[in-house]
Amino acid sequence: MLELNDVGVRFGSTVAVADVTLTVPEGEVLAVLGPSGCGKSTLLRAIAGLEELATGTVALDGTDLAGVPTHRRGFALMFQDGQLFRHLDVAGNIRYPLSLRRPNPDRRPNPDRARRAAPSAVTERVEELLETVGLPGYGSREVSTLSGGEQQRVALARALAAEPRLLLLDEPLSALDRSLRERLAGDLRGILTQTGTTALLVTHDHDEAFTLADRMALMFDGRIVQHGPTQEVWTRPATRQVAEFIGFSTFLTGDPARRVLAATEARTPRQAGTGGSSADAGRSTVDGDGSTLALRRSALRVDPAGSLEGTVVSAGAISDAVRVELDLDGVGVVEALADQHATLRAGDRCRVRAHAVGMARLGP
Ligand code: ADP
Repeated sequence: MLELNDVGVRFGSTVAVADVTLTVPEGEVLAVLGPSGCGKSTLLRAIAGLEELATGTVALDGTDLAGVPTHRRGFALMFQDGQLFRHLDVAGNIRYPLSLRRPNPDRRPNPDRARRAAPSAVTERVEELLETVGLPGYGSREVSTLSGGEQQRVALARALAAEPRLLLLDEPLSALDRSLRERLAGDLRGILTQTGTTALLVTHDHDEAFTLADRMALMFDGRIVQHGPTQEVWTRPATRQVAEFIGFSTFLTGDPARRVLAATEARTPRQAGTGGSSADAGRSTVDGDGSTLALRRSALRVDPAGSLEGTVVSAGAISDAVRVELDLDGVGVVEALADQHATLRAGDRCRVRAHAVGMARLGP
């Protein structure tokens, strides 16, 4: 288990990281999510022992790592550009950490490890890792002949080869195009789970964090402002700043919020016939106490059966849907989604259905 306690890093008078207290239980993946410049990479480097701590401690399995140099921490790092060795083929890259591995005097002899030192065992291990990352038979390929996604898979295999006690990932998929990023994120998640790897990921991409991590920590200006299980942060952002960063795009208060909630309740089958109590509860959440209803685009869908009505302001295709800006009657301008094949133009009237999934209440 990785434990960060009150970690702070300064560069002269710049406070890059302040008061960071987080834990990553063994076998889990934590994503630190935040905008560029918020201190994510500095935190990652501090954990790796590449930046000096101004305050606090970094401990692994109860041992304070102060004074333990980077190469003795047993961590592996993976960056967005993979940083593969160009002069080695794929197998050579993956073999590299295996050849660096020194016998650890603290460990009892491990026959399995000893066997791995034999050349045939190393070859076997390389092939096993290539299979794990979905590139069987790629060992003799030159790095320059690989696509960006394949290079990142090799970088992952190389990171896993050292059987790290902790894998540190710095925006591992950011350099890839969107569709590849989505596919590789799912694969990476599967590989980390399958290998039981404890990992800390830093990223500015909320989808990447959501797909990869068990837990999520939101970082702004060097500080963690919310952390918890990914699903919890995703559905219950603590502040508007967090909500905006994880993809909520519409924020409503007062009557507009009540109108959308009423439409949501009427359309949720499970709540039909409950005498309106859910609607009342929903209303009270945004009534007078200054709280806000936050909506993801997916919470509002253009649908002829919807009970809300509005006028299209603009519409544009995104990967598998149409993103619509709508002026909803009695609500105001909101973001919504329409079916991929919808033909909507500015000025068109349409109906909208509100879905509870994709809505969150923000406190005052
Ligand atoms: P992120 O990874 O979230 O983009 P960084 O950790 O790279 O953010 O940077 C956090 C802050 O620390 C920024 O203000 C950045 O300019 C500053 N910073 C990072 N590295 C250094 C350095 N080596 N010297 C001085 N300032 C730095």
